[in-house]
Amino acid sequence: MSILVTGGAGYIGSHTVAELLENKEDVIILDSLERGHKESVLGGKLIIGDLRDKEFINKVFKENDIEAVIHFAAYIEVGESTVDPLKFYNNNVVSTLNLLNAMNEAGVKKIVFSSTAATYGEPENIPILETDKTLPTNPYGETKLTVEKALKWADSCLGIKHVILRYFNASGAHMSGKIGEDHNPETHLIPLILQVALGKREDIKIFGTDYPTPDGTCIRDYIHVTDLANAHVLALNKLRNDNSSQIYNLGNGKGFSVKEVIEIARKVTGQPIKSVVAPKRTGDPAILVASSEKIIKELKWAPRYNDLETIIETAWTWHKTHPKGYNI
Ligand code: UDP
Repeated sequence: MSILVTGGAGYIGSHTVAELLENKEDVIILDSLERGHKESVLGGKLIIGDLRDKEFINKVFKENDIEAVIHFAAYIEVGESTVDPLKFYNNNVVSTLNLLNAMNEAGVKKIVFSSTAATYGEPENIPILETDKTLPTNPYGETKLTVEKALKWADSCLGIKHVILRYFNASGAHMSGKIGEDHNPETHLIPLILQVALGKREDIKIFGTDYPTPDGTCIRDYIHVTDLANAHVLALNKLRNDNSSQIYNLGNGKGFSVKEVIEIARKVTGQPIKSVVAPKRTGDPAILVASSEKIIKELKWAPRYNDLETIIETAWTWHKTHPKGYNI
């Protein structure tokens, strides 16, 4: 039987496919390639199509023997979600309902769902626990939380079991150097900093320097994409071994400020990396740091690349060898 990975040609999806293949899983990748890259799919069977198309997704389940689903396919850009929230509801919520409906009809009862720290909004505690309140401050986070709630009822009423993984800041690239981060337009801090190091961008803008943090810039919890990917394999095996649904945070439990990230990138790249102060970005919480104790304890998740210097080194290798992303 196969594992269906929606959005498997995206950044985290492609790294998860790589981990699944290493674990000898049979993988089907479903991706519209609207934002994914077919070059990032290192193996398995790629089916191109869109989850917004109900007939298409029903057909995928009819024609394949699917054991479980790992669901990444979604829009992820917070700024874009505030400009066009309905597009996000359509692609992130309606698509997932189509997927759950197809799963239900085909009798597929296991799903790992790609969620986000953005479901918490402005945190009440640091580090953030899975039981803390969820009050998203943007439509992106709200669409992910809406799906989480649908999953809860799909579990209790339909018996579809889930593991929800709430990611903090996914970063870095695969150790092989073959796959990495390629968003267009790029909005994430580490790739933007490395574009400055490569001379593709003049400077990195620091969004706000008067946050209530030691150096005034926002603090985030950066987690290596392969460690993140590995958690999906553990989540899948958990669904195979016991019948309970769970929510887990995924971060390193250690925060770095924007200024600290730039400083480490200077060290890794040996480049000066010019920074300039810019206005705050709306809806950016000052500090987001995860407690990942639950997944460490329950699923024995053991991050291998949890040092920020290593994370940036892997990203730097990817960006140096792929300055135009998958267009080389
Ligand atoms: N950030 C920044 N300049 C940029 C991009 C991001 O100062 O050009 C900051 C942003 O305000 C946040 C942190 O870097 O505090 C990480 O942002 P990113 O978009 O990478 O991830 P997010 O935390 O929003 O998911």
